[in-house]
Amino acid sequence: MDFTLSADLQDIQTTIRSFMLDVVEPRAHEIEDTNRIPPELTRQAAELGLFGLSIPEEYGGTGLSTLGRCAAYEGLGHGHMGFGGMVSAHASIGTSGLVRLGTEEQKRRFLPGMAAGDIIAGFAITEPTSGSDAANIRTRATRHGDDYVLNGTKHYISNAPIAGLLTVIAITSPEKGTRGMSAFLVPMDTPGVRVGRIDEKMGQKGSLSSEVIFEDAAIPAGNLLGPLDLGYREALGILTNGRVGIAARSTGAMQRLLDLCIQHAKAREQFGRPIAEFQAVQFMLAEMEVDIQTSRLLWQKVAWMVDQGQDVRRMASVAKYHATEALSRVADKAVQVAGGMGYMKEYPIERFYRDQRLLRIYEGTSEIQKVIIARDLLA
Ligand SMILES: Cc1cc2nc3c(=O)[nH]c(=O)nc-3n(C[C@H](O)[C@H](O)[C@H](O)COP(=O)(O)OP(=O)(O)OC[C@H]3O[C@@H](n4cnc5c(N)ncnc54)[C@H](O)[C@@H]3O)c2cc1C
Repeated sequence: MDFTLSADLQDIQTTIRSFMLDVVEPRAHEIEDTNRIPPELTRQAAELGLFGLSIPEEYGGTGLSTLGRCAAYEGLGHGHMGFGGMVSAHASIGTSGLVRLGTEEQKRRFLPGMAAGDIIAGFAITEPTSGSDAANIRTRATRHGDDYVLNGTKHYISNAPIAGLLTVIAITSPEKGTRGMSAFLVPMDTPGVRVGRIDEKMGQKGSLSSEVIFEDAAIPAGNLLGPLDLGYREALGILTNGRVGIAARSTGAMQRLLDLCIQHAKAREQFGRPIAEFQAVQFMLAEMEVDIQTSRLLWQKVAWMVDQGQDVRRMASVAKYHATEALSRVADKAVQVAGGMGYMKEYPIERFYRDQRLLRIYEGTSEIQKVIIARDLLA
């Protein structure tokens, strides 16, 4: 066993971390105030290859393995989580269905634009009446001649307000129950597709999510992704690899918070000495380190398993559950170590504290991860 990342992957991680810290972070207050990512940052991210993280080289992407992609996500996690959320909704769940299930023609049509950041992507399964119970979606796709006609409403869809393409899960054969579900590549400029209400969120500013409404939206049959009646398990398979990425991003965010806390604890003096000398503070730092190390080991193991072609349904949930819960613990301790400063908007810890909360909810809540793990254990 060798636990070191290759020099190439370490370089990629360092480059992305530096981009997040040196280029994105100085614009964080602007992103918070405007709830908008400055277009030049998106352009620079595209030049770095962030939008092609999951795309094979032959379609203009980085061609990274899952291990490589997750190493990049850990680097991404160090910076503004709204910016990281926008990139990963595209590079992870927005892209992986097309890479995994797409035909050669579909890949040639969309992936180069996605890798270049010209087409921002997203993934839409959640509906107002079906969140955790994703098998219960109502959006219908009905065959009419050469098209499938979509009707229904998705909500909380990341990137939808800026997206060019969504992977949409809809019911094609209601009589087959959860087996009658299919995936479609839906260009956002299709007549009958519109963005509804844009969500006002607690955090992750700049990462926009919204309703997406389909009203007799005719999608060419050539945009069916994977087989007709792909089924619930396969459709949700698109989310499985995303969960490993979330674990890696969480690890990066925890590392940043610990770095900030160490700096602060050494510099801040109370009772005539640095607060780092108080054991109560040291213990918080030590507990943060334990959460970081265990989360890093988990994402690395699961990413490696994906690259070996192993079934990771249970382990991806283990990694996502552990790392996102760990991040909440770490963010809470970071506020405590920083004291009043940790509660102030001028200091990044306050932002991480709000932003991280989402990671225990989307791509399957912590409870749903435990349901998946327990079901697999008992199967
Ligand atoms: C900002 C944001 C961005 C998002 N982006 C996307 C996106 O890009 N694409 C997309 O498709 N979706 C997206 N989502 C949706 C997200 O995946 C859902 O919000 C999530 O799956 C939970 O669904 P829900 O909100 O309906 O909560 P509910 O399912 O109503 O859950 C409420 C509570 O009940 C618990 N619960 C539900 N069922 C069970 C059970 N069987 N056992 C134990 N506890 C249970 C949950 O864990 C939770 O604590 C996003 C959500 C947010 C907030």
